[in-house]
Amino acid sequence: MSKPKKPCTIVAAAHPDLDPAYRSVGPAIWPTDTFEWASPAEKPAFDYSRTVNPNRAMLIRTLSELEGAAGGVVTNSGQAAALLAFLRLPAGARVIAPHDCYGGTYRLLEALERQCKIRCTFVDQTNDAAFDRAIEDEFALLWIETPSNPLMRITDIRRRAAAARSRGALTIADNTLLSPLRQRPLDLGCDLVCHSTTKVLNGHADLFGGALLASDPAMVEELEWWSNAGGLNGSAFDSSQIVRGLRTLPLRIDRQEATATRIAEWLAERPEVKAVYYPGLDSSDGAELVAAQQFGPGFMLSFELRGGKPVADRFVGALDLITLASSLGGFSTLICTPSTMTHRGMPVEAQEKAGISADLLRLSVGLEDPDDLIADLNRGFTRLGS
Ligand SMILES: *Cc1c(COP(=O)(O)O)cnc(C)c1O
Repeated sequence: MSKPKKPCTIVAAAHPDLDPAYRSVGPAIWPTDTFEWASPAEKPAFDYSRTVNPNRAMLIRTLSELEGAAGGVVTNSGQAAALLAFLRLPAGARVIAPHDCYGGTYRLLEALERQCKIRCTFVDQTNDAAFDRAIEDEFALLWIETPSNPLMRITDIRRRAAAARSRGALTIADNTLLSPLRQRPLDLGCDLVCHSTTKVLNGHADLFGGALLASDPAMVEELEWWSNAGGLNGSAFDSSQIVRGLRTLPLRIDRQEATATRIAEWLAERPEVKAVYYPGLDSSDGAELVAAQQFGPGFMLSFELRGGKPVADRFVGALDLITLASSLGGFSTLICTPSTMTHRGMPVEAQEKAGISADLLRLSVGLEDPDDLIADLNRGFTRLGS
């Protein structure tokens, strides 16, 4: 077998062979709904675009190479990828998820539980005793999100996935916050890995998409079956755009991460800041795990002010360059207050349990000049002092 390619080579490979008509270097887009058959008995490789489409196939191939997966499916949003993971579960199956998981995933799991379709247990997966209690009863799926959003808590993927496997359960990791360039969950023992491609993989803040990839070819077939049956697959146009976004992923992440590190170190020195959550700080919890399972700290960080919601509102109101918006991983730096924005789907008691305070601010660091970003954050602190 040839040596696996490096990520920057995988995303730059042009594959003109995928366009047999013109061998275009910039891939064509095939938005067609259907494809011609040579004869009724000869099913073509691509027959109907809800089922299979060349642009989706190209994206799946690239993502699979990056994650070390056997294959998978590309869905029309990150949440569709999560839904797909739950759709294949038998009725009443139990899912164990982090108590501070992505707000949309929390909302979906809770709603499915209210309809008695599945059962779920939310637990602090960084706490050994709590985790061991949660896995005492039978369960089918362990959902991991690390670093967690918004508090950047680090879960030991290798250990948690091994515990799930020993009890006959599968493990899925939501790898949206780091991308395969900074973490490869399948190498660490997970069975499935999912993404919101809306975020850093596309990186251009102009579409919605998701992906669910698996290490086992039989699981890939099952995911393809359900995604086709439920009509969850992404469009040709969006898939083509995401492939285009991926071309610059290694460059973007390097730059965003370097700037995030500088900002986190700068914030950690500010007296107005109660705490900074960033896996790249030496002082951060789980620094050893970060070194063991991540290839870098990533571009997401959060920090806590003192004084609750009014102080957070004043701070974000003073910013000029950084945009108040939910979402992450794009070219521009976004700030949000998770308690009223990304995690508003989570009841206040659940937010408190997860440690999401009203003056917690989350930053997705983009591609602007780091000095300009720090000057903008300084405007926020100046406002607090005035
Ligand atoms: C955004 C996000 C999702 C949901 O993805 P959509 O594309 O918005 O549906 C899931 N998980 C994480 C960690 C996310 O950031």
